[in-house]
Amino acid sequence: MSGNFLALAQPGVQQLSPYVPGKPVDELARELDLDPAKIVKLASNENPLGASPKALAAIREELAELTRYPDGNGFALKSLLAEQCRVELSQVTLGNGSNDILELVARAYLAPGLNAVFSEHAFAVYPIATQAVGAQAKVVPAKDWGHDLPAMLAAIDANTRVVFIANPNNPTGTWFGAEALDEFLQDVPEHVLVVLDEAYIEYAEGSDLPDGLDFLAAYPNLLVSRTFSKAYGLAALRVGYGLSTAVVADVLNRVRQPFNVNSLALAAACAALKDDEYLAQSRQLNESGMQQLQAGFRELGLSWIESKGNFICVDLGQVAAPIFQGLLREGVIVRPVANYGMPNHLRVTIGLPAENSRFLEALRKVLARG
Ligand SMILES: *Cc1c(COP(=O)(O)O)cnc(C)c1O
Repeated sequence: MSGNFLALAQPGVQQLSPYVPGKPVDELARELDLDPAKIVKLASNENPLGASPKALAAIREELAELTRYPDGNGFALKSLLAEQCRVELSQVTLGNGSNDILELVARAYLAPGLNAVFSEHAFAVYPIATQAVGAQAKVVPAKDWGHDLPAMLAAIDANTRVVFIANPNNPTGTWFGAEALDEFLQDVPEHVLVVLDEAYIEYAEGSDLPDGLDFLAAYPNLLVSRTFSKAYGLAALRVGYGLSTAVVADVLNRVRQPFNVNSLALAAACAALKDDEYLAQSRQLNESGMQQLQAGFRELGLSWIESKGNFICVDLGQVAAPIFQGLLREGVIVRPVANYGMPNHLRVTIGLPAENSRFLEALRKVLARG
């Protein structure tokens, strides 16, 4: 007799659905027999600029060392990050994407009988990381699509070990200010690790978003996670980082894969971190693209959720799935967010001006067909 290997999976895993990524360009091209070059993908919050030329040059140079294991301690990148983030090297944890950091936290601090608190409409990786280690996910209803921090505080109990908060949040783009964050951190019990996910923080410069790093010294139970996948344009390489006390970093280091960040990613991230021009261009492109999309939505009579990320959720006022399908047939890939409890919205990543126009034109066409 063979075992039922679904029923044998631990209960938390049985209840999970796999992460649904944005539809890859080549997949849509195959399915609809379209020219991949003519497909516009605004589905995964990727940087439309392409990688920094400096990062590409660093990768080319690193290719000569491909036979060697990467530096498992990531010394060069950690040094740069420590300097830029005003922390000690011992406070930096590198991850295979910041996703990896979230999983390291779950593996180190969560277990059956314990729980993690996070918001409704929050990043899909939080329940995956939590339930994968047999812990309970405590999902707190959102307020105006964003985190209800007081309600999240109230949800914390004696078995809570981790709270995941994202600022800005994906997929909603919602955010909270410095005062709200400070009040939250003041009231969170000391035994609860607060993971402040700042995957999009580089886009928020000059806005009223707090810089999580400003709170690290005052709150030893705070971990800030960041990534090179979004504003730094290196999503394919998988590199992100966590900043915390040295104690938390040491704990995460114990459960980390020995070579979790590859050498091409390490080299490219170092180069990208020094490319201020690229980052400035990314921000500028994002700001103008955000204006362009909002103007387009306004013309179409659609509303949206204000966003501080490189993406925006548009409210179609109807079930979005057929519109999503219609856009695919026009060669435009965006992100349905029904699995985030948002059936009437589509999440659109800010693209290049021409990509944004293509999307808006396709949306107009698909909506007009009714
Ligand atoms: C994209 C994203 C991440 C991280 O992605 P990585 O590529 O794994 O670094 C983390 N949190 C949120 C909210 C995101 O949107």
